[in-house]
Amino acid sequence: MKRIGILTSGGDSQGMNAAIRAVARSANSAGLEAYGINYGYKGLVEGNIELLDLDRLDGIIKRGGTILYSARFPEFAERKYQLLGIEQLKKFGIDALVVIGGDGSYHGAERLTQLGFNSIGIPGTIDNDIPGTDFTIGFDSSVNVAVDAIDKINDTATSHQRTFIVEVMGRGAGDIALWAGIATGADAIVVPERQYDIEGIAKKLTTNRENGKDHGLIVIAEGVMSAQKLKEELDKYGDFDSRAVTLAHVQRGGQPTAKDRVFATQLGDYAVRLLLEGKGGLALGMHNNELIATEIIDTLENHKHYADLSLLDLNDRVRF
Ligand code: ADP
Repeated sequence: MKRIGILTSGGDSQGMNAAIRAVARSANSAGLEAYGINYGYKGLVEGNIELLDLDRLDGIIKRGGTILYSARFPEFAERKYQLLGIEQLKKFGIDALVVIGGDGSYHGAERLTQLGFNSIGIPGTIDNDIPGTDFTIGFDSSVNVAVDAIDKINDTATSHQRTFIVEVMGRGAGDIALWAGIATGADAIVVPERQYDIEGIAKKLTTNRENGKDHGLIVIAEGVMSAQKLKEELDKYGDFDSRAVTLAHVQRGGQPTAKDRVFATQLGDYAVRLLLEGKGGLALGMHNNELIATEIIDTLENHKHYADLSLLDLNDRVRF
């Protein structure tokens, strides 16, 4: 093997650059060249491919976004485009591919492997919603962005005796809401994985007010409903001087945390080692603090991501 290709696909996340750097540097230290494929599978099919030299990797470990850009390209589900992609990879002398992205992107890597081109998936998404790993690259950074923003919102909530309902990202998963909610001392955390009780939340806020705590915080995952909609529901049960805030895309940007940088570096390096062993069709991750590699097909078809709902119970105990 002489050359490894790298692409980022699907929604971006902090730490993708750290993963790109790790794949390229580990490949270089094993005597291989690393090629960057711009704009995900779209760029792959179009042959938008170039050597990743040291200059391009310089300083990217601390940068948000992805230097390889990302793009949605649903056509890649068609065999015609997968074969075109392989043709392009061969044209550039590339022997194996690392795909950094979510479960959609994993499908592409799986298809390429089945067609004889070894490809490995690294979980890059803020949502933490990929099966086969306890954490995804970007999740920790995203939670920290949310916590920083909510801390600021809490300051003004306290000054003005208001209740803020803050909507965080996560697609269908409640992980960001759970972690950000616990870390900011939310009165309630609303996630898709468990039915919420608006009357109970209103009661808690009312009791808090009676006990002298006249500001409130509810963190809601986008997968349940918008902050505005929850505010409208809450307002039916009392006057909490409520405000709805949606954090939106700030959660996907900015510098990755040290944890995401280290994790991305471990996974990038692991991908290169596995490809050198001639392996493909694998999804990488971390389970119980150990790096793991599982078959993409089995991971996506037979496993689900579960948010840690013990955090909801924990919050109930510390925020009774
Ligand atoms: P994510 O990777 O974050 O889940 P998407 O679901 O949008 O994001 O997938 C990213 C890209 O992966 C798509 O734009 C497409 O190019 C490719 N992809 C998605 N599903 C498949 C599939 N079933 N087969 C091949 N490629 C796919």
